[in-house]
Amino acid sequence: MADILPFRRPSAAQKHRGNTLCRQGHHKWQVDQRQVFDVKQGRLVTRYRCSRCGATRNRAE
Ligand SMILES: [Zn+2]
Repeated sequence: MADILPFRRPSAAQKHRGNTLCRQGHHKWQVDQRQVFDVKQGRLVTRYRCSRCGATRNRAE
C-alpha cells in the first residue's frame, strides 16, 4: 500500500478534457434550437447546452 500516493496531481486538462472551466461554472453555453415549453412557468424557455460537458439549462426568454 505504500506505493499508492494519495496525491497524484494529474493534469487537470488531461483528466477532465477541458472541463475545468465547466467545473468552475464557466460552461460553454450554446443555444439549443429546440425551444421547450415549461409547463411550470407557462412559457417558452430557451434551452442552453454546454458544448463541452453536455450540461443543459433553461432560461426563460
Ligand atoms: Zn460545461
